[in-house]
Amino acid sequence: MKVLDAIEHDGMDMESALVQLRATRRNHAGHVSWADSAVRAYMSARAGHEARRHALGQPATLPVRAQWTAISWSEAPDLRGATRYERTAWGRRYASADGSERELWLLSVNSVKSDRPSAEIAEAAAVVANGIPSESAPRDVFRPVSAHPAQPRRVRVIGIGCGSGDHEVLADWDVEEARRQFTAHAKPVLARVVEADRLTPGSSCIRCEGLTGCELPHRAPNILAVPGSRRARARRSVSATDLRVHGRCPAQFHLTRALHLKSGTPESLPIRRGRAVDEWLNLRHAQGCCRDAPLPESLPGLTAAELPVALAMLSEHQRSCPLDGLLPTERVRVQPRLTAYDPELDVVLISDPDLLYTRAGGWIWHETKTAAKRPWEGQALMEAHPQLAFAVLMMAAGVLDGDPRRSLIELEVLYADGSRCEEIDPGDPDTRAEARRIIAALAGPWAVDETYSPAPGGHCDGCDVLAHCTAGRAHLEAR
Ligand SMILES: [Zn+2]
Repeated sequence: MKVLDAIEHDGMDMESALVQLRATRRNHAGHVSWADSAVRAYMSARAGHEARRHALGQPATLPVRAQWTAISWSEAPDLRGATRYERTAWGRRYASADGSERELWLLSVNSVKSDRPSAEIAEAAAVVANGIPSESAPRDVFRPVSAHPAQPRRVRVIGIGCGSGDHEVLADWDVEEARRQFTAHAKPVLARVVEADRLTPGSSCIRCEGLTGCELPHRAPNILAVPGSRRARARRSVSATDLRVHGRCPAQFHLTRALHLKSGTPESLPIRRGRAVDEWLNLRHAQGCCRDAPLPESLPGLTAAELPVALAMLSEHQRSCPLDGLLPTERVRVQPRLTAYDPELDVVLISDPDLLYTRAGGWIWHETKTAAKRPWEGQALMEAHPQLAFAVLMMAAGVLDGDPRRSLIELEVLYADGSRCEEIDPGDPDTRAEARRIIAALAGPWAVDETYSPAPGGHCDGCDVLAHCTAGRAHLEAR
């Protein structure tokens, strides 16, 4: 956004703005490489879009620096004590010279987001249609930048994927249509949002100013058992996958887990199969035991040829579904988000177990994995799956209520021709010590890392961010 601001608002040419980006040295080299390609992709999509409009005789649109803010206010406070609501839409703004047409571009990091809910598109269009050009200052409301802003007659919302460069017109409406769409789709969602007061801790806790006074996430001082960096740094979240990826390659961690970059190449079969199996099981388990559910005729992301192995794995699971025979009084949670907060390290721990259920007063944490072949190497269970060590620490820290002596962690591994189930007792002192050792070995380097250097190796092949990693490409070329 800063490079695009320099080009669109400060009149800098694209190449000079990109030279300036590379000269700042404040960002990771992979981040800079991605930003360079993203700016080029964005500018090219914008130019193509404008050229098509020009060919159709439609007016050109120009960058708008001021934020559009839709403001509603009343003299008397509402039920929540508020007298003023301001709604903005994050994106890049354009308008025709006479102000009658406005356009908002919504940027995503990889490809165009194809699953934006109609409420989100309608809300963006409503802000574009009703927003007053304005600017904000810290601890102040948005102030209009002009006394008589032009009212638009037509608004467009366009989605763009900065990684792939593809873009899509999500809305192209006159203001009456924008109003109808807002009333039908966005208004009910906004009403629910302002009324909701339930706590849903997760990765958004890292930006929350209310965290220190909040009862959630569950406090777990020193849960990772590692010292933090000496320099103060922004609050972070961390999952077992984050730690595993960081242990493999810090640059891959930073680019894929912190910046969420992905390549456009399709995922490997084991990953797609694992996800398809997980999703099917999650849907069934939301209804209870899956033993008698008919197997599907297709699974999302898998071809007909790839289907039989996944179906064989599903029927292996059905033979020993953990919910089989569970009393109706027990509680079942499918893919719940669990969180813990270490106030000293200022880190929010995040975990999404496949399945949680109670049995005789304790919680059972059930993970399901798919594997093409067996057996796995002679590595110890928690060493091979740090996710299980992470689960031990979360349970030991008391993120779940229930009797810790009756709690258990289960790992179910599904093959095409069989399955196995391993059990870990999170209450066992030796198991806890082993889990602490495994997680500390991964979390120690992660907690103090500020440079995220690449660690080239076998994992470079097929790495999502190889295009932005000089060291990884050099490694593969030298093989
Ligand atoms: Zn099941």
